[in-house]
Amino acid sequence: ARGIFNIGKAPINKVDKNAKNKIYFKDVAGCDEAKQEIMEFVHFLKNPKKYEDLGAKIPKGALLVGPPGTGKTLLAKATAGESSVPFLSISGSDFMEMFVGVGSSRVRNLFQEARQCAPSIIFIDEIDAIGRARGRGGFSGSNDERESTLNQLLVEMDGFGTTSGVVVLAGTNRPDILDKALLRPGRFDRQISIDKPDIKGRDQIFQIYLKKIKLDHEPSYFSQRLAALTPGFAGADIANICNEAALIAARGDEKQVKMEHFDAAVDRVIGGLEKKYKVISKNERRTVAYHESGHAVTGWFLEHAEPLLKVTIVPRGTAALGFAQYVPNENLLMTKEQLFDMTCMTLGGRAAEQVLLGKISTGAQNDLEKVTKMTYAQVAIYGFSEKVGLLSFPQREDGFEMNKPYSSKTANIIDTEVREWVAKAYEQTLKIVEERKEQVAQIAELLLEKETLHQEDLVRLLGERPFKSSEMSNY
Ligand code: ADP
Repeated sequence: ARGIFNIGKAPINKVDKNAKNKIYFKDVAGCDEAKQEIMEFVHFLKNPKKYEDLGAKIPKGALLVGPPGTGKTLLAKATAGESSVPFLSISGSDFMEMFVGVGSSRVRNLFQEARQCAPSIIFIDEIDAIGRARGRGGFSGSNDERESTLNQLLVEMDGFGTTSGVVVLAGTNRPDILDKALLRPGRFDRQISIDKPDIKGRDQIFQIYLKKIKLDHEPSYFSQRLAALTPGFAGADIANICNEAALIAARGDEKQVKMEHFDAAVDRVIGGLEKKYKVISKNERRTVAYHESGHAVTGWFLEHAEPLLKVTIVPRGTAALGFAQYVPNENLLMTKEQLFDMTCMTLGGRAAEQVLLGKISTGAQNDLEKVTKMTYAQVAIYGFSEKVGLLSFPQREDGFEMNKPYSSKTANIIDTEVREWVAKAYEQTLKIVEERKEQVAQIAELLLEKETLHQEDLVRLLGERPFKSSEMSNY
């Protein structure tokens, strides 16, 4: 444990130059997209000259965003391993109980050390502990220390030139609470998300850890079964299960680890997780799958909705239970038709619950919030409603409560219009879901099995999307 006695002495920064402890991309599984994104840094650290000669601006830092235990630290280490550069790390929580001036001098030393052994990678775990937005929710003076640490970090990041060969990676689960100054260009200006693994990813992670264990069957015999038993588990939980299973087998004086040991280990780890956060039940999972399938199918058959990239029921952090990801709409202007179709697609989740499961859940809250905002905007800001007319009442960012520049009669008209518009969109959504009932069920069941579906899976089940996706961007 750290006490006040080692202030200024014991460096927290761990430099790992020992080649034997090196981690490579092959040691990190189930996050191929993140690996691909982080490759750019590897490329740069290996060939800095190529970038410099061309005058290219080199990325300085990236945020690795994802729930705890998903391998952010591991991936940062692997990036150092692949680039054959030293890895220096520090954790935001190390700064929690420090005296004034210590935090900032630690940061200064860390960067100094990194520059000395450049090219190198710095990893700041739990950056939110230092990087929380300044001037927010503090009662004690301890905030000053955090602020001065954060300021030092900003100074260091601005200070080292892009040619100094230091790349800073930082891990967090809460990019939303970070000080905006950290996210400016030249600092952590890119985000790489690392989600919890889907069933295929879990299978791959299990295989990594099963290799180290003496088993009574082929590793794949275990990995497939175990992956199916562990939805919502992060890589760290999987490593934990494998270790537990070996311990349980050892305690029983077994020569090999068997499936029953893994079963017991899974139960034990689930027990531990349930204390930390709610583990999703089978029924809830089914509801999420039908809900997400509803979004996917509705969007597929609406001309002006955005084409879908992937839909998944892998829980992400504490927020959404599942989610569907669309090609981001980059248009600055949106038509009434686009907004209508977007509204229907957003309501697709609730509609699927109602039509296919016969009961509705609280899972649509976030969707309904979006729909409410979108529809109010059309009626009261964009002048889309004939009844309200070509008037625009911009809302304050923090909500609808304000001195309204319109009469209560107008307020009534706006409210009624919004209600009617949403009802109309829901009617249309229900129609689509009713017509495509079987397909919604098919996709939901496949989601339960595979957890993540990509566009090509949807093409297989739903047929090519009946509209050209380029149409919308030509607006
Ligand atoms: P984070 O930094 O996201 O909280 P870590 O990288 O510290 O998570 O993960 C903790 C441990 O869990 C790792 O050291 C590794 O043993 C295991 N682990 C987590 N994610 C993965 C993964 N994707 N592949 C392999 N092992 C993983």
